[in-house]
Amino acid sequence: MNDLYVLYRGPLASCNYDCPYCPFAKRVDPPALLRADQADLLRFASWVTETADRRLSILFTPWGEGLTRSWYRETIVRLSHLPHVARVAIQTNLAARVDWLAAADPRVAALWATYHPGQVTASRFLDRCRRLDALGIRYSVGVVGLPAHYDAAVALRAALPPSVYLWINAAEGHLYTPDEEQLWTTLDPLFGDSVRPHPSLGLPCHAGETAISVLGDGTVRRCHFIPTPLGNLYDGSWQSALRPRPCTNTLCDCHIGYVHLKPLGLRDVYADGLLERIPAAFPVRPSLEPTSPS
Ligand code: SF4
Ligand code: SF4
Repeated sequence: MNDLYVLYRGPLASCNYDCPYCPFAKRVDPPALLRADQADLLRFASWVTETADRRLSILFTPWGEGLTRSWYRETIVRLSHLPHVARVAIQTNLAARVDWLAAADPRVAALWATYHPGQVTASRFLDRCRRLDALGIRYSVGVVGLPAHYDAAVALRAALPPSVYLWINAAEGHLYTPDEEQLWTTLDPLFGDSVRPHPSLGLPCHAGETAISVLGDGTVRRCHFIPTPLGNLYDGSWQSALRPRPCTNTLCDCHIGYVHLKPLGLRDVYADGLLERIPAAFPVRPSLEPTSPS
């Protein structure tokens, strides 16, 4: 069966958290936008249901937080039970309770969870992780690699089960010294993939061939980072546009993009865990240094 990775982002941009590094902090969506987001998501879910000639892996990448909205929770449960859906995952701050996932197929549903120190206590965040463990739901946990987050990230790594992968995202606009990079790499052996943008111009990328990005209105693009539309999901026009093609951007610096950049070979590193960011062979965790970066 033809594999297709689909990143979906509707208009929702509200979030219950107030992260100082985020433009969507404490944003409130007007009721009309929430209704549009729900309608768009249900339409997308219907398309997924009907598109049984491909093996679909879906990642919801909302600008804000989706799991405080019932329609994201219900859609993940519903899609997880479809035989042609290999994965349905969402990026989340894990603020909302996770018990609803008991109704999902744990072989298919997964979470990409981000821990935001300052917005939630470590114990509350870890409670959510333990509940996911009890439910048998796959998840990765990550932290933005700001110096102020280092101690919290070390404590989180120590408290999480060794089987849970902790990723570190390089903070936007922050230049890492070699020592800082080394410190963060002791927490996430794959930090090196995040710390520098990847030159991508002219290089072959799976995006636009076996991966697409979908907006709420059905606009299909090859990825979230190249705005040129390939067509629309709901009139089928995107299908004839899929083909091998080189990247037209100078750099690719976001994990959800560069995992598809062919020369990096990251589809082999993550395999089934590509969308929820869980490496196939979890790297051996090096010993942790308790010192802080500058
Ligand atoms: S939880 Fe995510 S979306 Fe919400 S404010 Fe923080 S970074 Fe932004
Ligand atoms: S390398 Fe990144 S920016 Fe370029 S096509 Fe692939 S995902 Fe898009």
